[in-house]
Order: sequence, then C-alpha cells, then structure tokens
Amino acid sequence: MADVVTRFAPSPTGHLHLGHAHSALFAWHRAQEAGGRFLLRIEDIDLGRCRPEFEAAILEDLAWLGLTWEEPVRRQSERLADYEAVLDRLTDEGLLYPCFCTRKEIEAEVAASAAAPHGPEGPLYPGICRGRSRLEQARRIAEGAAYALRLDVAAAAGLVGPLTWEEKSQATVTAEPTSHGDVVLGRKDVRSSYHLAVTLDDADQGVTLVTRGEDLRPATDVHRLLQALLDLPVPVWQHHGLVFDDSGRRLAKRHDALSVRALRDGGKSPAEVRAMAGFPD
Ligand code: GLU
Repeated sequence: MADVVTRFAPSPTGHLHLGHAHSALFAWHRAQEAGGRFLLRIEDIDLGRCRPEFEAAILEDLAWLGLTWEEPVRRQSERLADYEAVLDRLTDEGLLYPCFCTRKEIEAEVAASAAAPHGPEGPLYPGICRGRSRLEQARRIAEGAAYALRLDVAAAAGLVGPLTWEEKSQATVTAEPTSHGDVVLGRKDVRSSYHLAVTLDDADQGVTLVTRGEDLRPATDVHRLLQALLDLPVPVWQHHGLVFDDSGRRLAKRHDALSVRALRDGGKSPAEVRAMAGFPD
C-alpha cells in the first residue's frame, strides 16, 4: 500500500482549542501508526481574518503538544496563482459563472421563495446569476462590479457522472455534490475558496488520508466532484467526532478557557492536554 500521508490544516483565525488539538493529534496518530507522513498546512486564504500572530501561536502550541511535522509548512496564501489557474481552466470549460450577488440579495431571494431548497449548510444559492448572458457578465465586470465565481454544479456533476467516496473502515459513500447548489470556488476578495484550495492542496501534497471533523463531512461531496472534474487522485477520508464543552456546545473560538495556550499557561502539562483532547499517553 502506498505511504499514508495525513495532514492538519488549521486556519489561523484564533488560538487552537481542544477540538483543534484533537484533530491534529488524530491526523498525527494515523500517520504514526502507519509509519507514514504527517503534514501541517496553514489555510490562510481568508486574508481579512487570518493573522500571522495566530499562525505563530499555532506552530508553537502544536510543538508544545509534542507534534512533529514535515518542513516546509505550506501556506495557502502563497498558492493563489495556482488556484487562479484552475479557476481559469474551469471558466474556459464553461463550468464557472460570475456571481455578482451580495449576501443580502441572496437572503432576500431565498426569503421570497416559498420552498427554497436547502442543503447541508442551509439554503442553496438560488441561481440568480446562473442565467446571465455573456454580454451582461462582461458589461458588469467591465464596470468594476465585484463578483465571485460559482461552479455550475448540475453541469459539472452531469459531466462526471455518479461518484462515491471511501470513508476509512466504513461502507462506500455516495457523493451528493448537487445537494450543495452552486458553490463558490473563487471568492470576491480572493480568487480561491475553502473547497478549491483544500482539494488542490491535498492532491498536490499527496495526502492519502484526509482526516477532519464530522462538521466538514458534507464538504467531501464537493471535494469529490472537484477531484473528478480536475482528474486528481482520490484519497480516503476519516471524519472524526467533535469535542464539546461541559454544556454540550461544540468548541469554538469563544472557548478561550479551553485553548491550548490557556491550559498551558494555567500549568497543565502537554500530556495532560493531550489527554483532555482525547489522546491519553
Ligand atoms: N482549514 C479548515 C478548518 O480550519 C480545515 C480544512 C480541512 O481539514 O479540510 O476548519
């Protein structure tokens, strides 16, 4: 069997909490037990929310927890030209269209429709910009209107046919990319999106086992479609459980008291924090 390659891919928008520590340790252990490789990737395309000081803190906290990873650490902000090249290719293939809608316009359209279709992440994009003529698209772009690039998911899914994916040690899963509607592959502010960057980087870095929280399981539908469209290698996935606080709420950035940093400053040892994150020695 090919080498197992896993990764932890945090976004530096805050300090790592126990949920992130669980995710990092999970990926690290999967690589260790298979004699494979573990990568760390900084997912910092959200230029408005990501901060270099959070990135530095993430590296420090992970090292404190005892994790080791391969250098160099990849930063998605250094890969924007590669992502854009793929957007150009999909645009040439007629699979992307510019979407000029604001969040408000989308919400209003959804509210006005009696039975707006919903996907795993809420109401689907109602397709307002899908049918615009080339001429209108070009005119608006020439006028300087901001636009995202959306994937025509029905066209893309029709092109590649039915898809499945493999969840480690479980039955094969049928991918349902159309349940997400026309997802954004190029944001208005940066010519990439989570779906595009994560899929391209996992392929480019040779990741064979994608581990991440259950909350991201639905995204796998979209990533599987992108892999088929772009002829990328297909990894295996393993989605893991999430960490909850004492009142049953999923950990989030607001849980500062449960950040690795706060626990460390409060006198906990790395072994104690690893145990709190579900990995007792
Ligand atoms: N960057 C994503 C996050 O921090 C995780 C990406 C992934 O594992 O697919 O939520």
